[in-house]
Amino acid sequence: MTGEQYLLLPGPTPLPNRIIRAMGRPLINHRGPEFKEILQEVTAGVKEIYQTKHHVLIYPSSGTGGLEAAVVNFISPGDKVLAVSIGVFGDRFATIARNFGAQVEKIDFPWGEAADPEIIGERLKRDVNGEIKAVLITHNETSTCVFNDLKAIKEAAKDHPALFLVDAVSGLAAVDLRMDEWGIDVAVSGSQKAFMVPPGLSFLAFNDRAYAAYKRSKTPKFYWDIDLGLEYLEKGQNPVTPPISIYYGMQEALRMMKEEGLENILKRHKNYRDMVRKSIKAMGLKLLARDENASTAGTAVVAPEGIGANKIRQYMREKFNIVLAGGQQNLNDVIFRIGHLGYVRELDLLAVIAALEITLKELGFALNMGEGVKTAQEFILNNY
Ligand SMILES: *Cc1c(COP(=O)(O)O)cnc(C)c1O
Repeated sequence: MTGEQYLLLPGPTPLPNRIIRAMGRPLINHRGPEFKEILQEVTAGVKEIYQTKHHVLIYPSSGTGGLEAAVVNFISPGDKVLAVSIGVFGDRFATIARNFGAQVEKIDFPWGEAADPEIIGERLKRDVNGEIKAVLITHNETSTCVFNDLKAIKEAAKDHPALFLVDAVSGLAAVDLRMDEWGIDVAVSGSQKAFMVPPGLSFLAFNDRAYAAYKRSKTPKFYWDIDLGLEYLEKGQNPVTPPISIYYGMQEALRMMKEEGLENILKRHKNYRDMVRKSIKAMGLKLLARDENASTAGTAVVAPEGIGANKIRQYMREKFNIVLAGGQQNLNDVIFRIGHLGYVRELDLLAVIAALEITLKELGFALNMGEGVKTAQEFILNNY
């Protein structure tokens, strides 16, 4: 197979050359003045993407580390926590809280659907004594390619005092998220999704309400301790040795994102979603998510009866060097996922659609070749 891989996963995502070049620079002292400047620039840039004026700490870790940081800093053993799950990552956040001693009550919605704001609002309304200390919820559920309407959910919660802790690992910068405006207290993200940077850094954004909960929290911590992080941030450092090259990548990524503008970035992701979904429908395939809650970060496609999703993925990889994600847990072999977040271009997606049509034909699915491609071309013609 010649040429570069088409990496269309919902993380890690393709890297722009500008970012690759930035990361190739020689290392510097992580306790010196040059690193201080980079850390300050990156922290300020990430804050802008979160649309928050409050705190952001950056950890050397994968996204899951950021979720654990949220739990150990803002929740105490014995706290009653409402965990809303619409898939694998909602389950994971709930498990982390449970493992650290929280009393977790879970609300599960069927995989492929979004959380119903009314149901969450009703549950909080019944909590007249304010026993629920925190709500855990996923912004964009990567396993099903469905996003939650956090604004509506926050509104349905009315003035319930629970902290809102959000897993925005794959959602931030791909799906709209206005932390301060919507009153979200804590939100976690990571470098390897919409930021177009390799894995290695997670971001923990939190407001003063969350900080007050931290001051009361009794969960043991060291690596994730936010006071330690804030103390070092003041000096322009991380408490531990950070992945300096990934910081170079983040610095370049945030400059690129500033050039493009957040609004344009979100619009671009919306276009990817609409183009992919229209084309998939034109091929005669089914989508897992409904239009209203379909993620702009990725699309989950239901494989045709009799042709497993994994066979389609294998064919795409071997024949075309196109890498798509599979379904997780119950959805294994049922769906495949086309990631379209970060540094993806329309023509990459057009290539995927064209190759998918050939693949489906080859694997025995009856379709009119070219319907999907034509739909995508028309979408590009009308929207760019
Ligand atoms: C990718 C992802 C994570 C986990 O990130 P890791 O870097 O693999 O630890 C958590 N939540 C969501 C929604 C994700 O998409």
